[in-house]
Amino acid sequence: MESFDYLRAATVEGAVQTLAGGSGAKCLGGGTNILDFMKLNVEAHPQLLDINHLHFNKIESVAGAIRIGAGVRNSDLAYDSRILENFPVLSEALLAGATAQIRNMATVGGNLLQRTRCTYFRDPVWECNKRQPGSGCAALEGDNHGHAILGVSKLCIATHPSDMCVALAALDAIVEVQGPQAKRRIPIGDFHVAYGENPAVETTLKPDELILAVELPLQPLYRNSHYLKVRERNSFAFALSAAAVALEIKADRIVTARVALGGVATKPWRSSAAEQALVGQPVGEKTYAAAARAAVKGAQPQKDNGFKVDLIQRTICRALMTLEQRLAKTAAGV
Ligand code: SF4
Repeated sequence: MESFDYLRAATVEGAVQTLAGGSGAKCLGGGTNILDFMKLNVEAHPQLLDINHLHFNKIESVAGAIRIGAGVRNSDLAYDSRILENFPVLSEALLAGATAQIRNMATVGGNLLQRTRCTYFRDPVWECNKRQPGSGCAALEGDNHGHAILGVSKLCIATHPSDMCVALAALDAIVEVQGPQAKRRIPIGDFHVAYGENPAVETTLKPDELILAVELPLQPLYRNSHYLKVRERNSFAFALSAAAVALEIKADRIVTARVALGGVATKPWRSSAAEQALVGQPVGEKTYAAAARAAVKGAQPQKDNGFKVDLIQRTICRALMTLEQRLAKTAAGV
């Protein structure tokens, strides 16, 4: 691990000034991701800017929305009564991620910037276009059973690792960031980028911008939501496939739907194709299977992960069936 200077930010303005100062400072929140990578020599930063004292660890009700400060810990968010009531998919996604100890440390801002778990990215002996642009991609010929089938490029096939971000994609979240001149509000779908020409670029956040908060619009639809994660072991494992779903059902027909996928794509993957296949259709397995087929249209499996094309379809179907049953029980007052 390379040595670095530790700085502590006292104000948001001061933090942004430091980020904009050209010293290569990186923010330190919970440290559950960045410190790992620095210890592995995957990343080296001359300065770490501790942002844990900026008082942005509040969950607040604002006009028509819930505003979650970037410093809120994943555990606090998962168990907040407003989240449990209005966005169960988010609570379920958070609790499916990592371990209790990590969730107690990890922040919302850090989770948004979580980097891939690709084995070859995490070990500097391998070629990796994301770690060292232009060096190649060891995963293309190596073990790629855990890699992506959606949003891949010839340069990188790594999956996005976050559960929380998949739920946020289904919930139409807005990410609020502060730059030196102004604030920006970035729809979650525009925050992460699929790895195209430069896999090292993962988000549209600029180096001099600080994530302030995530805003979730309050809509009845999001109360009817569910997260299902499939993994190789029951805890502390990243998703092989995951689905965040929300449904509004009237007279056994789907009126509105949200479907976002994890574990299979290079970014949290909102599937508008699956949503279109659901809306206007009767509830039931046949409709869910059609939506799942639409979700994998254009998938590009690698040599070891063809099974994910089936697995994600089953995950979508099961998530939708579970949600439908849950909603039917609630309507029946069971
Ligand atoms: Fe690197 Fe992406 Fe290839 Fe993994 S899949 S080795 S992160 S370029």
